[in-house]
Amino acid sequence: MQSWRASLLWFDPEADGPRPHFESDGLLVTAADAAGVQRVVAVGAYDTLRPRYSDVAVHDRRGRLIAPGFIDLHIHYPQTDVIGSPADGLLPWLERYTFPQEARFADPGHAASVARFFFDELLRHGVTTVLAFGTSHPGSVDALLGEAQARGLRCIAGKSLQDRHSPDGVRDETEASLRDTEALIARWHGRDRLGYAITPRFAPSCSDAQLHGAGALAARYSDVWIQSHVAENLDELRWVRALYPQDRSYLAVYERFGLLRRRAVYAHGIYLDDADRALLARTGAAVAVSPTSNLFLGSGFFDYAAAREAGVTLGLASDVGGGMSFSPFATMRAAYTVGRASVRGDGAAKRGVSLAATDLWWQHTAGAARALGLAWVVGSLAPGSEADFVVLDPAATPLLARRTAQAASFEEWLFALILLADDRAVTEVVVAGAPASHAFTEATPDLHGGRAR
Ligand SMILES: [Zn+2]
Repeated sequence: MQSWRASLLWFDPEADGPRPHFESDGLLVTAADAAGVQRVVAVGAYDTLRPRYSDVAVHDRRGRLIAPGFIDLHIHYPQTDVIGSPADGLLPWLERYTFPQEARFADPGHAASVARFFFDELLRHGVTTVLAFGTSHPGSVDALLGEAQARGLRCIAGKSLQDRHSPDGVRDETEASLRDTEALIARWHGRDRLGYAITPRFAPSCSDAQLHGAGALAARYSDVWIQSHVAENLDELRWVRALYPQDRSYLAVYERFGLLRRRAVYAHGIYLDDADRALLARTGAAVAVSPTSNLFLGSGFFDYAAAREAGVTLGLASDVGGGMSFSPFATMRAAYTVGRASVRGDGAAKRGVSLAATDLWWQHTAGAARALGLAWVVGSLAPGSEADFVVLDPAATPLLARRTAQAASFEEWLFALILLADDRAVTEVVVAGAPASHAFTEATPDLHGGRAR
């Protein structure tokens, strides 16, 4: 059993919106369960909890904030080396930068080396769970999930399905792609903290036969995840309309093939209409809002008000390498900006909203966990959930220290942290109750050594 004393932020795991709890002087207690999994045992005020756990060692992190590890709902690990590549929108960017990089993942050594860097970088930024794309090469998933397993991380990933409109080197073959997917499910899904996601890249890259096969697998393996893209970009939308003239909308293509259900997560969802949003709400499929990617590629602005009124499940994602940063702070900042916008990107009006700090944070933690069907597992720090969390320094930079010191309320303090923090504020990352093994652990003081830095 271990405990941490710090300011604490945690969430109700099952609420369909942010229900935050904050304790300025809190105690977080963790212990291994019968299976050896480190879980949260108690969370609350130090003065209340300490007498009950008086014999448990305390890691003193006063002055710091402990919060759930961030969850990235949509990220492409093979695009780690694509981030920061300029292009004229989504489709030229895929052709020019993304597909050539992804072709390199035919080499397992390259895949393993990128997977190592990818998790180092995520952990440096406080991200402890991802739903990630591999490439079309099955070995890319073996490399990623093997690395996650070695680090004890919770990770869900899948081999991208793309049997058409993809260049040599990344295009797969219909029957083999479905056999590979099923073999990867058998190899990885449910092993340790790992999960598999059936991964049609996007409707234009998949033949009817491939989407049909993906839907059949999704029905056969009902607790396996599904991940793809929908309604991101206007040129993409026109292309889908030409390829699927019989379908009511882009989203309806996925519905026809049985790919909308709980545990299905679709990135972007900018150009949805009311019928699409109702369909998402009815089926329980979720949207991974990817604001830095949408701003970078000029795709458009997600309509929070309409999505929420329709009851759409959503959470936040970096969408690296279209996304501009691995940092959850950058993503939350961009989500706020996107929320404020009063247009969508195609000239249609949307209602601008001011997302609260606790709402932005929830979308990247407990809200994202809920979108994955993992409420009570990660993202909330609720008792019983797995002990993945971050320790943040609200005085990591001179400006952060100055601004947070003047906050008049917790919301104001958290908002300043979102606007001004980056990886320098992430002083420790704890994965399943243990310090994460990554680049900055050597520079972090011993967990028992009292107050860090
Ligand atoms: Zn993406």
